[in-house]
Amino acid sequence: MNTKQGADKPEIILTGDRATGPLHLGHYVGSLKQRVTLQEIHEQTILVADMQGLTDNAYNPKKVSSNILNIVADYLAVGIAPSKTTICLQSQLPALAELTMYYNNLVTISRLERNPTVKSEIQNKGFERSIPAGFLTYPISQAADITGFNASLVPVGDDQLPMLEQTNEIVRKVNSLAGRIVLSECRPLLSNAPRLPSTDGKNKMSKSLGNAINLGATEKEISAAVKSMYTDPNHLKVEDPGKVEGNIVFTYLDAFHPDEGYISQLKEHYRRGGLGDGTTKKVLEECLQDMLRPIRKRRGEFLNDKAQLVDILIKGSQISREKTAKVLFNVKDIFGLNIF
Ligand code: ATP
Ligand code: MG
Repeated sequence: MNTKQGADKPEIILTGDRATGPLHLGHYVGSLKQRVTLQEIHEQTILVADMQGLTDNAYNPKKVSSNILNIVADYLAVGIAPSKTTICLQSQLPALAELTMYYNNLVTISRLERNPTVKSEIQNKGFERSIPAGFLTYPISQAADITGFNASLVPVGDDQLPMLEQTNEIVRKVNSLAGRIVLSECRPLLSNAPRLPSTDGKNKMSKSLGNAINLGATEKEISAAVKSMYTDPNHLKVEDPGKVEGNIVFTYLDAFHPDEGYISQLKEHYRRGGLGDGTTKKVLEECLQDMLRPIRKRRGEFLNDKAQLVDILIKGSQISREKTAKVLFNVKDIFGLNIF
């Protein structure tokens, strides 16, 4: 799959986030930043995936419902504008659930079980064989989301690449059943930091693993997270030469610091020896504090006006209901079900 090509001519873009927690720094570098730029020239829709959030939280639905507006506030706080991007709620778009039902018949259980992201998520969540059917099949519902909008470009973190492959397989099956092109294949758009690790470096940063620095994190939380960050375990004394690869402080500096030249000097110095982790962490903390301060402030202001956030979702969902109903009509047609 080509992951970089074609982001400069107008395309239909669909992205989304599970409503399983507030958004974090991984989302910021993995997709939010790009969405802010992409909304200037493309037809962009962002889906708050509440139904997908329920696939592993059905017995704790509040976790999902209580985060819907938080996520909308996160979007607005980083600069996503409802006048340029349609923001909608998955559960308000019945056509997506219906498309999922049709696609379910085109995918085998063994294909779903081969999905590497789903495999590792099942392991992380300790599901073993008691996986909710909805969780195992969420790549199919994600295919419904993407094709439901006829999206050609999907900005995602690299954990989502298997989902896009699965989507394109479904698209090809639908088109071959129809004997013509009804759905279009999509391409992923990866950022320069497609998978931000957690501060301990053990996993990707993720809402569900409780290892995230949220966009609304307080000054104290940011400071504590940076202080606890994994560096080079063999860099014991300041004068020791240190390793930059796998050192999470440098991974974050690469992802977030605006001055690349300064960071490469810092890396040289660290490799040579004579630069302590306290200093590199201080540089990182200052950069994250500066970056998150205005986002936290705007986020707080947006959350003070919940009616405005709900209104954005209502309007965006209305527009999206119409778009997705058209795709559903075309897919039902293939199965001969538009009888009346
Ligand atoms: P959950 O743990 O509930 O799955 P999550 O933190 O993985 O939450 P998602 O809502 O699943 O977040 O992902 C939304 C988008 O953000 C996807 O495109 C995903 O690839 C991207 N993303 C999530 N985490 C990261 C990360 N650590 N680095 C880069 N991109 C990420
Ligand atoms: Mg996820």
